Amino acid sequence: MARAGVVLDSGDDAAVLRPAPGVNLVVTADAFVEGAHFLPAWCTARAAGARLAQANLSDLAAMAAEPRWATLSIGARRDADVEDVVAFQAGLADALAAAGAWLVGGNLTAVTGEPWYSLTLLGECERGREWTRRGARPGDLVAVSGHPGRAGAGSRLLGAMGSAAASALELAPLVEAWRAPVARIALARALRRTGAVTAAIDVSDGFVGDLAHICESSGVGVEVDEADWPADPLLERAATALRLTPDVLTFGPSDDYELLLAVEPGGRGDSERAAAEVGVELAFVGRFTAAPGVLTLRTIEGRVRPLGGAGYDHFTGS
Ligand SMILES: [Mg+2]
Repeated sequence: MARAGVVLDSGDDAAVLRPAPGVNLVVTADAFVEGAHFLPAWCTARAAGARLAQANLSDLAAMAAEPRWATLSIGARRDADVEDVVAFQAGLADALAAAGAWLVGGNLTAVTGEPWYSLTLLGECERGREWTRRGARPGDLVAVSGHPGRAGAGSRLLGAMGSAAASALELAPLVEAWRAPVARIALARALRRTGAVTAAIDVSDGFVGDLAHICESSGVGVEVDEADWPADPLLERAATALRLTPDVLTFGPSDDYELLLAVEPGGRGDSERAAAEVGVELAFVGRFTAAPGVLTLRTIEGRVRPLGGAGYDHFTGS
């Protein structure tokens, strides 16, 4: 398959790339360390590789950038199973290719400590059309894709009961949300065309943590409306199994790789149609306010309580 913009790739000392005219390059990097970011007992090497690709792809989705080129550095132990290293790279390369990006170089080095993988991904974005965390304005709507909290719940289930037990449960979709996330590249493409998105971030820390990042960068506050939150019976069941309140799973630490967006009020209909076209759930769950850094939740009973501050610590703790 033709690889757009690749003049020369890994057969030389360095790759030569040619961005399209009129674009900015958008660059992100992420690393997985075995034992810290993935456990071989929790997923195959191939799945771990795909997951590292999705983590990087998700950052480009959050910038409205088109994924293009990547380099992978691997720190492998001398006694590493070569098949695992090859499977990791194959899983990663396939996930990139599905999003239109290609490995154009890399490096393999021997380590004595934990094995690690480091991916750098470059994307293109039409000049001045990048989404950032800075553009949310009071009155803009809060939109989020999918079901935040599922990946965090999945990793807690894996930690609490091990891979075989957690995967056999009716809660297996939560484990899969952690094991095989799919970055919202297609949704970002569809929403980019509406011109309605004013700020964006991907959910890699957890809904409240990442919402706080947008509020901080944009100098706004936010009120989330519990009544508009997409119901997730699986998360509620996981909370019972893990003896946690559902809020901790829904709003707390979780690397879901969903998109969290500020949308101008007049763009809601277009955004909903764009999401429907690519078959992704997009929920409108609140509104940004003029109170900088104040994050609140309006409960179904109509009470308003903090979602940031002490609440934030509560959700990020443990
Ligand atoms: Mg990010």
